[in-house]
Amino acid sequence: MPGTGKAIIIGGGPAGLATALRLQQKTKIRCTIYELRPQPTTLGGAIGIVPNGTRLLDRLGVHEQLLSRGNSRSDITLHSMQGSVLGKSDMARNAKEKTGYGYMRIKRTDLQDVLLEAVRREGISIHFDKRLTAIDDKDDEDGVKVVFADGTVDKADILLGCDGIHSAVRHLHVDPSQSPEYSGMSTLGSMIPAATLPESVSSQIRGMNATLTQQGMFFATTCTASDDEIMWGFSKEVALPASGDARDGWEVRRKEEVEGFKTTLLDLLKNAGGEWGSAMRHIVEKTSVVGFYPLYKLPLGGTWFRGRCLLLGDAAHAMPPHAGQGVAMALEDAFLIARLLGDVNRPRSEVFGKFDMIRRPRVDEISIRAGKNGSIRRNTGPWALWLKEVGIRLVMSGAWGLGLDRWGSEEKHMVYDVEEEAL
Ligand SMILES: Cc1cc2nc3c(=O)[nH]c(=O)nc-3n(C[C@H](O)[C@H](O)[C@H](O)COP(=O)(O)OP(=O)(O)OC[C@H]3O[C@@H](n4cnc5c(N)ncnc54)[C@H](O)[C@@H]3O)c2cc1C
Repeated sequence: MPGTGKAIIIGGGPAGLATALRLQQKTKIRCTIYELRPQPTTLGGAIGIVPNGTRLLDRLGVHEQLLSRGNSRSDITLHSMQGSVLGKSDMARNAKEKTGYGYMRIKRTDLQDVLLEAVRREGISIHFDKRLTAIDDKDDEDGVKVVFADGTVDKADILLGCDGIHSAVRHLHVDPSQSPEYSGMSTLGSMIPAATLPESVSSQIRGMNATLTQQGMFFATTCTASDDEIMWGFSKEVALPASGDARDGWEVRRKEEVEGFKTTLLDLLKNAGGEWGSAMRHIVEKTSVVGFYPLYKLPLGGTWFRGRCLLLGDAAHAMPPHAGQGVAMALEDAFLIARLLGDVNRPRSEVFGKFDMIRRPRVDEISIRAGKNGSIRRNTGPWALWLKEVGIRLVMSGAWGLGLDRWGSEEKHMVYDVEEEAL
């Protein structure tokens, strides 16, 4: 089918929507998206998108609209527990100078809204409340057939599994042996209106502000164009429940974490000094509800394609969020697969293998980096925290590399352009 035919996309998150849009821009392939959730945009929280991703959002034609909702602040200020500023840095300045594209922090609902609007403008069909239950893919001329829980079926030339870390496409067909593993880290967090804080506190929070404690890292930033909403989080080591990965164990742990968050955090931050110390306590005090997110990842080395099915985004390579590259990785996947499928001289049987060959080294490297970034947030004693703070001061002043520059992505990853990959 090179360049033509039909694709079924399972999952209407960033990977699924971006893939449909790029296939529409670059090929004659018709896409139908099936999404599990009954309605669009039910996700909470906010995310940061790195320059290698914002550049691709521009090529999808949605960058301006997204920037009118989110903000492009990429500066990070690290504070000590005593209240001094350990250092400031602009995570994306060099990448922006080199590529013209900077960082974007945006509410997930805004990202989803804008991508969905674009999908609808393009006339791409999307169906909600569709739970995939079976895949029939003999890799023959009949194509691939999918069955949903409501009894409906559909058929296409290819199936793109964009259904996230717990991908049904992966466990039903592509790689049933692969399952997500817990990273040992979890994040508690929430979003609050800036107006609930005293002006003296909310005006301090513009770019990312963060503090390492002995039991994890507290961070807060605004995530809208008008800086009127603050996203904050606390990422920390949390042991796997005794019952293992079972949902019940996590539900008990979630309840404990969510119900006890205020007492636990206010106790941990009670001696945090300076204006920022007081700001952290204000933020926690003014928050009534938090989410708790155990961070899972997919082990490296899984299978990404089988027959007429290919996994994209988190379904193929979910990684811890500490490199801030998850959405950008999904966008890069979307752009590369559209280029490969749009090449009329390339047989379909070669497309998925080529995709895997090009994407895997980069994805693996970034996934490893994301795991290492997370490690600085692990539990530590008072001396080790002091040493980390000294290290941060040195790294942020550019004086000495202690391997503690663990705040995001390396510049080489942010200036990368997937469209320059030789096919
Ligand atoms: C706490 C946390 C913070 C993060 N912060 C950042 C950040 O700052 N920056 C960043 O770039 N990334 C971040 N990430 C990672 C980012 O969220 C993911 O990498 C990104 O959402 C991947 O997009 P995706 O479309 O592949 O998967 P998802 O966003 O998971 O979307 C998958 C979609 O498929 C649907 N689906 C699932 N199963 C089925 C099914 N059986 N049938 C049909 N549909 C299905 C889901 O409902 C969902 O809509 C973070 C992740 C976490 C957990």
